[in-house]
Order: sequence, then structure tokens, then C-alpha cells
Amino acid sequence: MSEPLGIFGGTFDPVHFGHLRLAEEALDRLGLGSVRWIPAGQPPHRGVPQVMARQRLEMVLRSTAENDRFSVDAGEVGAAVPSYTVDTLERLRVELGGDKSLVLLVGADAFGGLTTWHCWRDIFTLAHVAVSHRPGFPIEVASLAHELATEFSDRRLPDPGGLRAAPGGGIVTFAMTQLAISATHIRKLLATGHSARYLLPDSVLDYISLHQLYRDRL
Ligand code: ATP
Repeated sequence: MSEPLGIFGGTFDPVHFGHLRLAEEALDRLGLGSVRWIPAGQPPHRGVPQVMARQRLEMVLRSTAENDRFSVDAGEVGAAVPSYTVDTLERLRVELGGDKSLVLLVGADAFGGLTTWHCWRDIFTLAHVAVSHRPGFPIEVASLAHELATEFSDRRLPDPGGLRAAPGGGIVTFAMTQLAISATHIRKLLATGHSARYLLPDSVLDYISLHQLYRDRL
């Protein structure tokens, strides 16, 4: 089987070094061939992002441009209706076939909320899920919703090698450099006139400044 493909969805409002290290360390630790970034259009399970989808897409394009193992998928951004992760994975299955190993990358906070996602159990029929550690969000079975804790225990793979052995259905966790960076904090800094430098790439900050984004709303 070819190397697994990482799928990394998010609002990326804006993209920051926490996202970039997650994708890079997933490549390295999980033996992925590449990571496909998929910025959300209008995410169904959370509030309206602060900037337009095409601007969030542009920031992801700028921040990933120099990594030839990263690609960016504009499928959700261009969709007329909100895209659910499960729909995106179905689209990728049609594109890539049933045998390709797909690994959905999520931070521990996102994984903790998985039961609120549309048809969340179907995600496991379409892909593996790899959960990264994130400061403030311990990955503990005891803190997961009961149904998710059961899936977590039943599907847990002992090591990332299992991601190659099947196209989907497993769960792995991986430790990454702990960076307590969030888009919420960056938006707050920018809205209150503070520096966000070194929390996200300069190319993204330049874009934010050029288009005067995140100026006055917290
Ligand atoms: P917000 O603060 O607006 O909620 P965010 O910083 O959490 O945004 P998202 O675009 O919502 O960013 O996150 C996309 C994915 O990246 C999610 O799976 C999230 O868990 C993960 N993630 C974001 N920041 C980090 C971080 N610092 N460390 C590990 N994972 C992260």
C-alpha cells in the first residue's frame, strides 16, 4: 500500500505555527507521504469565521507554499453549502479510490468534540483518525463522551505502522511539540493592536496587514 495521505481540515482563521507544526510532525511521526490541507468554507459546527473563506484559503496557500509535501484543497472553500468532514472524505474516496490510506489529522480539542460532528461514526469507515496532543487538552478516555471513549478504546492502534495496513478505521495519538498558540488568541492580539509576530508566518502577517484583517472584532 502507498504511503498514507494526511487530511488536515480547519478554519485556519488565521493559520499559525501550531497548525504548521502539527502537519509537519504528523508527516514525520506517522510516516505520511503528504498532507492535504482543507480550509473549511462555512464550518457547520462553530461560529462564523472572521474573514472570508477565500482569504483564509490564501493565508493557508502562503504558509504552505514552500513545503512540497503539503498541498491545499479548495473544495470546501468553493462549495456553495457548508461541507461536513464526512462529505469531504467521501469526495476524497471517490477521487483516490477505496484502498488509499487516509488519515484525518485533528488536535485533541477537536477530537474531544467529535460526537457533535455530522455522521461522526462514518468518519471511521472512510479514514483513520490521528489525534495530536495540544496544551490544555489532555487525551484521556475518562474525559471523552461515552460513545467516543468506546470507539477510542476499540480502534486504538498500538503504533502508526497500522495506518499503512488498512485504508481507515484506526485511531492513533501522537505527541507533537507543545505550542500553546490559538487563532483566538492571535485574533485578540490583532484586534487590540498588539504584536502577533512569531506566532504565525510573516507571509501570513503581511497578508493580514495588507488587507487590514482582524482589526476591530474580538
Ligand atoms: P480557534 O482558536 O479559532 O478555535 P484554532 O487555533 O483551534 O482556532 P482551528 O483552525 O480551529 O485553529 O484548528 C484546526 C485544527 O488544528 C484542529 O484540529 C485543532 O485542534 C488543531 N490545532 C490548532 N492549534 C493547535 C495547536 N496549537 N496545537 C495542536 N493542535 C492545534
